[in-house]
Formats: sequence, structure tokens, C-alpha cells
Amino acid sequence: MPNDAYGELLERWRDARILDSCDSLLGWDQETYMPAGGAAHRAEQHALLARLVHEERTDARIGELVEAAADDERVQDPASVEAANLREIRREFERWSKVPTSLQVERARTASLALQAWKQARNENSFETFSPWLQKILDLRVQEAEAVGYDTEVYDALLEVYEPGETAAHLIELFAPVRDASVDLLGRIRESAHRPEAGLLEGTMPIERQSEFVRRVAEAIGFDLHGGRIDTTTHPFCSRIGPGDVRLTTRYTEREFHGAFFSVLHEAGHGIYEQGLPADAFGAPAGEAASYGVHESQSRLWENHVGRSQGFWRHFYGDLQATFPDTFAGVGRGDFYSAVNRVEPSLIRVDADEVTYDLHIFLRFDLERAMLNGDLAVADLPGAWNERFEADFGLRPPGDAQGCLQDIHWSWGSFAYFPTYTLGNLYAAQIFGAAGRDLGDLDEAFARGEFLPLRDWLRDKVYGNGARYRPAELVERICGKPVGAQDLIAHLNGRYSRIYGLT
Ligand code: ZN
Repeated sequence: MPNDAYGELLERWRDARILDSCDSLLGWDQETYMPAGGAAHRAEQHALLARLVHEERTDARIGELVEAAADDERVQDPASVEAANLREIRREFERWSKVPTSLQVERARTASLALQAWKQARNENSFETFSPWLQKILDLRVQEAEAVGYDTEVYDALLEVYEPGETAAHLIELFAPVRDASVDLLGRIRESAHRPEAGLLEGTMPIERQSEFVRRVAEAIGFDLHGGRIDTTTHPFCSRIGPGDVRLTTRYTEREFHGAFFSVLHEAGHGIYEQGLPADAFGAPAGEAASYGVHESQSRLWENHVGRSQGFWRHFYGDLQATFPDTFAGVGRGDFYSAVNRVEPSLIRVDADEVTYDLHIFLRFDLERAMLNGDLAVADLPGAWNERFEADFGLRPPGDAQGCLQDIHWSWGSFAYFPTYTLGNLYAAQIFGAAGRDLGDLDEAFARGEFLPLRDWLRDKVYGNGARYRPAELVERICGKPVGAQDLIAHLNGRYSRIYGLT
């Protein structure tokens, strides 16, 4: 009998991944079309699938195969794809084997119910409705962290799931200069005499036309609608069901187009990444995204570095004017460009401009870390949130729906996820800089409507590698220097100094 432990291991791992993708489809449905009455049964479906996936990934046979595959010739070269696959499968197997199945099942069931409670709490602007669920999901994740272990703090055990190799201590160091630069730039913008006119973005823009416009743009930048969809939800997201099926969602309002527009660009960035992963490696680490931070770097790259650039609007502004003549026919491109890049402290993270965005993340990073590490009681979250928000933004949320209840993440139990957004911004600035060095003047290319050379470059450098390299290693390989804050700070200072006429 041939000994192909490596082959058998990948097959088993792929089966678990296919099972997991069924859960993704149920999650997508829960957010788009499921009637509210289906919530209790959906929680049972999630719980059962979580158990099956967990059992499959932590089966004793997987452990045997991991050991046996270590002797395979193909994994002897540590730089090979096979060695990376084995390394990542071993890491996940070891982690999840320490977590009892019952805990995983309980988490899946609780997360599904907590999501419904969060929706209700947000609608009713009532933290009390959500509070017991937040406590429960927090406790479950702390139990998970204790089960898998950590060197310094609980936070690190959860961070490892989203950004392998990252630690809270390192993030604090990495984020500090970004915080200082954002606060400094915001201060100078506030003193500037230049005030972009935000009102010119408002009008009556039929949702059907908005939807057609965002589809045209998503396709132009390289999102394949044959292998994807765009639907409507309250919280925009991207979900990959599998090769050939990547789904984006957004939310529209008739009064303005840019909220839905930029969220589609953002989610399309995630989607283009998913569509660029090697389909034949689906289920193996080499066919999966490198990390949530790298994922976020792709959404932020398309949303901000491309979608908020001059070149992009040199190409698309005529189309936008023709699509919404009542709103934009009399508005010059320069005024429009300043308006979509207007910097203004605001309550909601997903609507934040590039300069204040990371401040929203640092607030969440500090508060969730305090909750996980036991320094902040769940009951005290709204007060702590509002106090910190006022200190950082000079605004006080009028209610928790616009404060600590605004994001979906904690209801799912996704603690330690938020930092991946700022990591994404850091990676994106570095990767976009490297792309410009390789491809020449990207702004001019965008003005000509050429977006696919960038998409293809990213496919080659980022997407095609899957999770072959650790996130920090991947970025360093692409950019020729370690991850740092300089490129993001230079990008923000450059773009916003020009818009606001700062010296
Ligand atoms: Zn995103």
C-alpha cells in the first residue's frame, strides 16, 4: 500500500473545509434572506456544523497523518508549498485539539443567538438587551484562550486566529506612531481654511441606478460577477462560499451614493482576493487567505488607494455624472474629489474617513483588550466607550446604537479582530507603494481605466500565494522591508496635505 500520508491529510483537511463552507452559506443567508423566525433553528444548524468541522479537524487520524507526512520528501524543503501546507495544518490541528468540542459547539450556538440579540439591541438602542449575550460570548472566548494557552495575555491567544504570529505588545508599538500622526494631521486639517463641501454629494439617487453603477465599477476593477454576487444587508461583508462563488453585500440609501459605493469597493477588494486564490488548492492552506490583516489590506487598497485617488475619478466621474445628472451635472470633479475625501470626526467606523479611521480601531483595540484581560466589566462598556470617544473625537454618541453597539464583530465573538483593520492599512500602504515601483504611474493608469494590471500584479504577489507565508513575511517579501508605519503615514500626509492645502 503506498504511503501517501500527505495526500490523505490534504484530502481530509479539504473535506473539513467544504463542510465549513456550508456554514458560510448559512451565515450569508442569515444576513440576507433568512426570516427572523428562523434564528433558533439556524443556531442549531451552526452548532451542528461547528461540531462536525471541529471533530474532523481534531480527529486523531489527522494527528497521525501530520506526524507521518513530516517524512514526506515534498515537505523537506521548508520553502516549498507542501511544507507550508503541513506547517499550517499542524498549527491549526494543535490549536483546535486543545479546545473541547463542547466549547466550540457552545460558541457557535451562542454566536448565532447573540447576533440576533445584537440586532434587536441596536434597533432598540438598548445595551441591556445585548449585555448578557456579550458577557456569555466573551466568557466562552476567554475559556478558549485559556485552553490553548498564551505567553503574555489572553488577547494574544485570540489574535493568533486572525493574525498568526502577531501579539498585542507588538501592535501597541506598531500603532503608536500611527495614532500620533493621525491626531497631528487631524489637528492641522481642522485649522485649515479649506472646507470641502459635503452637501454636494447629496441628492436623490435611485437605488437601482446605484446598484448598476457599483456593479460596473466592481467589474472594471476585476471582480468577476460570473463567480460572484452583490446583495443587500444592514452590515456589508464578503463571503467566499468556495471557488466560483464569492458574495458581497452592501446597504443603500437614496440620499447619497458614496456610502454604498465605497463599501462595495471595499468588499470587492476582499472578493478579488478570494477570487484570486488558487482554486485547485481549495481546502489546503496554500488555497486560503494569508490572514485577516492581509485580507483587509486588499479591501482597503481598492477602497482607498484606488477608489479615493484622482486617477480613479478622472476615469469614472463622467459616468457618475451621467448616472446621476440631477446631483452631479453641475459639480466640478475637483470639488467632488475633495468632498469624497473630506475628513471629519464622526460616530460610525464604517463611514469614517481615512485619517480618523484608525482612531476608531485603537479605541476598540484598547476596550476589547481590557474586557478580555479582565480590566473592564461588560456592564461598564458603554460608559468607557463614550468617555474615550469624546476624548479622541470630541463627540459623544447620542446612544449606544451609534456607540458600542454599532459593530457586528463582538456579537460573533470576534474579539481581537479589530486590529486587523489597521494592520490592513499598514500592509496596503506598503504593498501599493511596491506595486507603483513595479508598474509605473498607477494614477495615470487608473485615469485610462486600466485597473487589471494592478489586479494581476496583486494576484501574482499576494493572492496566488494563499497562506504560504506568514503575514509579516509575505509583506516583507513583497515590499523588501518589514511592516512599519512610515508608508501609511506618508500616504495620509501626502494625500490630505494636497486636499487641505497644508504645508
Ligand atoms: Zn473589510
